[in-house]
Amino acid sequence: MATATETIDPYLGAAQIAARIAELGRTISEVGAGPAPLVVVCVLKGSFMFFADLVRHIDLPTNLVFLGVSSYGGATESSGAVRLTHDLTLDIRDRDVLIVEDIVDTGLTMSYLLDILRARGPRSLRVCTLLHKPARKRIDVQLDHVGFTIDDVFVVGYGLDYDERYRNVPYIGVMRFG
Ligand code: 5GP
Repeated sequence: MATATETIDPYLGAAQIAARIAELGRTISEVGAGPAPLVVVCVLKGSFMFFADLVRHIDLPTNLVFLGVSSYGGATESSGAVRLTHDLTLDIRDRDVLIVEDIVDTGLTMSYLLDILRARGPRSLRVCTLLHKPARKRIDVQLDHVGFTIDDVFVVGYGLDYDERYRNVPYIGVMRFG
């Protein structure tokens, strides 16, 4: 699936990811929510696959919603400037909200998302990220649930892309160039 100058080294296997997601779902279910269904926010596009698997392990009433963001910058570097490409279709005022993200790298994207959602007055706002890359942290963000803490490598697959490719790879791999 990789081109001649790109190779993907397996990093987190499909079974390993599935087992961790089942644990995350159990923990999120134990934390629970208030009287209204938990609003679970899928941050598009990268978290679509994680979101689809995670929500099947959340044993609570839920409302599932989608937020489209696109970060400016190069193919492997986030600039921190984020554009909203699709807004939520639900008012989150006084609601318990869980943001589901694929990866937190510098933290700039999550910081932006937390700011805009917090301004809408939710009852609570929590974050679940599949991957966390602390080596490149530029801003501290609240991460309530983390699937895997990873090294400073560029990963693709399981929803994550390189130049809009590899999102359909069923495992997470490290992208090598050249
Ligand atoms: P941050 O704003 O935390 O630096 O980066 C967040 C966004 O950058 C992620 O949602 C993702 O789109 C992209 N990103 C950061 N690290 C990686 C990586 O290792 N692989 C891929 N495919 N995208 C990444």
